[in-house]
This record gives sequence, C-alpha cells and structure tokens, in this order.
Amino acid sequence: MGRLYAVEIVYRGIFQKNLAKNISRAIVLAAHKEGKPGISFGRYGDSPERNGIPAKAFAIVATDDITLEEGMAKYEPTQVDVSICVDDTLFKGVESWAWYGLQPINKLVKPGGTLIVTSLQDPKDLAEMAHRKEAPYKLAIVKGMPSFSGLWVYKDDHTDVRILGTVAKVLPELFSLASVQDVIRDEWHDELKATSAKKAHDRVQTYTVQPTQGNPEKPYSFVMPKWTEMREGIAIPSIPKGEKIKDPVNGKEGGFRAARNPTFLKYATRTMRPVVDFDKCIKCTLCWLACPDSCFDVTPEGLYDANLQACCGCGVCEAICPEPQCITMVNETAFADNSSQWEAWRKDKDAYEKWVKEKIADRPERSHGFRFRGQYEEQVPEMLEIAKQG
Ligand code: SF4
Ligand code: SF4
Repeated sequence: MGRLYAVEIVYRGIFQKNLAKNISRAIVLAAHKEGKPGISFGRYGDSPERNGIPAKAFAIVATDDITLEEGMAKYEPTQVDVSICVDDTLFKGVESWAWYGLQPINKLVKPGGTLIVTSLQDPKDLAEMAHRKEAPYKLAIVKGMPSFSGLWVYKDDHTDVRILGTVAKVLPELFSLASVQDVIRDEWHDELKATSAKKAHDRVQTYTVQPTQGNPEKPYSFVMPKWTEMREGIAIPSIPKGEKIKDPVNGKEGGFRAARNPTFLKYATRTMRPVVDFDKCIKCTLCWLACPDSCFDVTPEGLYDANLQACCGCGVCEAICPEPQCITMVNETAFADNSSQWEAWRKDKDAYEKWVKEKIADRPERSHGFRFRGQYEEQVPEMLEIAKQG
C-alpha cells in the first residue's frame, strides 16, 4: 500500500475560483513530474458557487494508481496534509451551505500538518482567530493581501506560484521545488513566476499552533437523520415569526428582530463588516430597506443594528447611508465576536464612540470586489514588490 497525500484549498467562491483552480492543478502536475498520479477537483457540495461564499478545491496525489483509486473511493478527504487558505478572513470558520453550519478553517489539517495562509497579519493573531485543535499544527504565512483571481479577473500577482513554492517547502515528499518550477515554466512561460516560487520556498517560516491557542468555541455539529426519521415527501418549513428586542439598560421590549436561518448565518462570507455610529443616524431607514439579506434589527428607539450573525459584508448599507461615517465597512480581522453594536452603544455611549473611532481609523483595502476600473492592475505591482522581498 502506497502513500496518499491530500491538499485542500479554501477560497472565496467566484472571486478566487481561478486562483484555487491554478493551485490545485499545478500541485497535481508537479507531483506527476515525479511519477505520482493525482487528481484535482472542486467540492461537489459547493457548486454552483456564489460570490464570496467559502468553497473548497482539492488535490489528491498518491505514490501509485491503486492507492489513488482507493483514496478517491471516499471522494473527499477527511484529513489533509496541507490546507491552503487564500483569504485570512476565512480563519474565523467556513460555512459553505445551509446544512452544516460554521466549520473550523483547520478542521481537516492532520496533527502536525500545515495550514498555509496568505496574510499580512501576525501568525499569533491568526492562530487566535481559528478554532482550537486537539493536536498541534503548523501555520505558514505567505505575506500578501487576498488575491482575487476569479471568473472575471485574473490578478496575476504571483500568489499562486508563491503558494506552490511554499507547498514544496512544507511537504517536500509531495513534489520538489524543481518540479513545481518546471510546471510554472510549462504553464505560464514566465521565469519571474518561477523565481517568485523559489523565493517563497526559501523564505517561508512556520509557526506551531498549540492546542491551548485559538477560539475555544465548540464548532457547530449535527446528526444526520435516520431514514426512519425522515418526513414523507418534501416539506420546507416556513421562516418562524420574529421577536421583539430587549433594551439592555431599561429592560423594555420593542422594535423587531426577524427570525433567520439557524444553520446558514452567512457571516463566514464576509471579509468586512459595517460599523454603525448610532449617534450619527438620522433614522432614514435606507440601510434597513437596502440590505439584501434583511440583516438590520430595528431597535426599540428606531435605530438599525446590523445583525452580525446574518450580515454577509456586502457593503450596500455603507454605500446607501446618507450620513458621512455613520456606517463604515472595516476589515473582518479587526473583530473577535459578533455581538450587537447597539447593545454596546446603549450600555456605554462614550466607550462606544471611542471604539468606533478606533475601528474606522484604519480602513485597509476592501478585500473583495473592486471599487474602480483598473484597481487590480494597480495592486499587482504592490504585490509583486511583497513577493520580491519574500
Ligand atoms: S454589509 Fe450591510 S447591507 Fe450588506 S449584508 Fe451586511 S448589513 Fe446588510
Ligand atoms: S442609512 Fe444610515 S442614517 Fe439611515 S437609518 Fe441606516 S444608519 Fe441611520
């Protein structure tokens, strides 16, 4: 019996589709150069993809055909040697579709395996964002902002080849740097990309994450119904009634919170979240009307509180709010939980004002979607400079 290697690529649907496909395909081609058969594929359950919704691609490689066949009989691996995350905001967890809830980013990483991530963050901060694991695992950071090379754009900022060089370093049994550089030359005909792969290979450092590090929250779990428990035919339950909101200061009830799907909270879709400055709100209702996911809870005094379990981070509310800096989108990595901003404001307005100022002071690049024509072209030289420095 030979050895099976499994790599997963966790990416944002549509926006990073080509990036994930390029990486998984090149992994298989590089292993093939060393006589190992393999297959790359997207997760069936993620199709059709939707904008920003987390999705996965896999590369499975074996030392021989029989082992590959045996490994593929399961279709999807339950453990991977290397997990690649191409957007660090996915570190909070992955929720692809409506049936299995939020799952840890590191769920499939084997004990001692490696999680590679593209990020400008510190490894310690990233480790805290991910869920805790029982056994230690390694974190390898490929320095850079998330690359969005999707259906409509291919932002050739070398993220793909830098990740491939990193894989050659953290799992040299899968393929060598020389093999992956050969594939890069075959596929992209670009010596500069082969050099970027080598730089990433030579400079990557790993950080070991201990079982004491990370988010201690228990991930969502479920039990599949037995056939005897299934209902006859198809019955889709309607959305239950919403509820009133309780004021945390005077205990009075009022306003309205819509009931929402308990297993598809959508916040894993988000790369940014709205920060609402309630003192600036003129109660025009536009955010509430325009939010495509009906995320705003109406507070007893008629303010609008973005429900952060439900918000997908599209930024429509920021765009439509008529009051300057009343709603500001801020990078998701700046927040540790999804608690209500309105409750925090009600409890201590001065502290909340300070918090808002702090959070909106630094507005890094909006990480998905572009804001003006040619934005990606402008970003490529910046990323290539980061790649050059390693
Ligand atoms: S960013 Fe704003 S408009 Fe978009 S889902 Fe969140 S609350 Fe709604
Ligand atoms: S759009 Fe802005 S001003 Fe209008 S209700 Fe929403 S937060 Fe208030």
